[in-house]
Amino acid sequence: MSVREGNLEAPTRHPIDWKSPQYYDEAATFKELERIFDICHGCRRCVSLCGAFPTLFDLVDEGKSGEVDGVEKKDYWKVVDQCYLCDLCYMTKCPYVPPHQWNVDFPHTMLRAKAIKFRKGEVDFGSKFLSSTDVHGQFAGIPIVVQVANAVNQTKPMRALMENTLHVDRNAWLPALAERKFRSAAPKSQSLPVQDGQRTPGKVAIFSTCYVNYNEPGIGLDLLKVLAHNAIPYELVEKEKCCGMPKLELGDLDSVDESRRANIPVLAKYAREGYAIISAVPSCTLMFKQEIPLMFPDDADVQAVKEAMWDTFEYLAARRRDGLLKTEFPQPLGKVSYHVPCHSRVQNIGRKTEELLKMVPGTSVHTNERCSGHAGTFGVKKPYHEVAMKIGKPLFRKMAEHPQGGAPDFISSDCPLGGHHIAQGFDVNSLGTPRLEHPITLLRMAYGLE
Ligand code: SF4
Ligand code: SF4
Repeated sequence: MSVREGNLEAPTRHPIDWKSPQYYDEAATFKELERIFDICHGCRRCVSLCGAFPTLFDLVDEGKSGEVDGVEKKDYWKVVDQCYLCDLCYMTKCPYVPPHQWNVDFPHTMLRAKAIKFRKGEVDFGSKFLSSTDVHGQFAGIPIVVQVANAVNQTKPMRALMENTLHVDRNAWLPALAERKFRSAAPKSQSLPVQDGQRTPGKVAIFSTCYVNYNEPGIGLDLLKVLAHNAIPYELVEKEKCCGMPKLELGDLDSVDESRRANIPVLAKYAREGYAIISAVPSCTLMFKQEIPLMFPDDADVQAVKEAMWDTFEYLAARRRDGLLKTEFPQPLGKVSYHVPCHSRVQNIGRKTEELLKMVPGTSVHTNERCSGHAGTFGVKKPYHEVAMKIGKPLFRKMAEHPQGGAPDFISSDCPLGGHHIAQGFDVNSLGTPRLEHPITLLRMAYGLE
């Protein structure tokens, strides 16, 4: 049978067979890794995406045979550890993903290897602690504790201690705890009539996310202001737990299941009542749109939530197409250097944030798609922070040069952590100090809302 170069069909994704014992069969996984590494070695399209591919190609080139069979199996872990599951190689580069007969799914093969490593107990305490966003977030909103924790966390001795014990790089930007959690601070929606559009439900359920709830509630409050301004009634989902993305990145699939058991019954109720469920963090949205559905393909509630889940700007852009979004923007934003995070690109929704920001008069949007390198907890860990800054450098440089000339007035990314990583990249590379704002905050400002 002849092998066709590249796919003509849209990529498809196999369910993640994480419950079967074969999934954790190390020998079978290494065989699959070797097969995929060999295809990648002959292709090398992804060399610039992240650290995983250069690590692999260096191992091959420096090996005994110059082929994958010359790489020691124990070194495969070096490749696995460099993958932060952004999914970009699968979604934007690889011509051999299913339904192509070569059936290359690089990220989910990395995930399988990570799951084996996690089950073998080879994941360090610091990584586990960092991924427990519900645990460290619980101190947010406690007066005095927050101020003390935030102040102490920024001191040099504490950063040295965190580096030694939790492997958090002392130079990495870390989020502060919020003085008031988003879910406590959020005002109730006005009682408004529900106006469904052709494309959009007219009522919204908000999945706050750990980051917005515990660290940066202003993003969530700005989202509520934009919804209220557009007469869209909203509710915060009755209760929520971490979406599970930080646990997925570690290969801790049992904890992802625990998150599913807590979140999905709650969210499915909103989905069945006709709400659009939205979150302002693309990675959390992607978890409900892609990863949990692939782990639980036969769960009707999971699939219902998947159908009801929207990226914030995907929802607002569809609302505009329905003729139900206000498009008077009295406040120009000037020069905006905007970053599309990998987990937004993977959602295959097009550049919806760009579309809305470009509608603001007196605003020039410079869109950048390269990976920032932050990737969840990857960019703050001691072994990877420098790699993350290196991966992000071309992006930082490109964002610093606005096509309208000079430095941008704003830098912005739908991913709040990615945004702060970019701001740090500007700082350490002496690229200026433009104001960092989340796109929903920019939209709130453009509407002239306080
Ligand atoms: S999923 Fe992202 S980090 Fe992992 S190998 Fe692909 S491009 Fe690299
Ligand atoms: S993931 Fe696909 S595109 Fe990327 S190097 Fe491997 S075979 Fe090539």
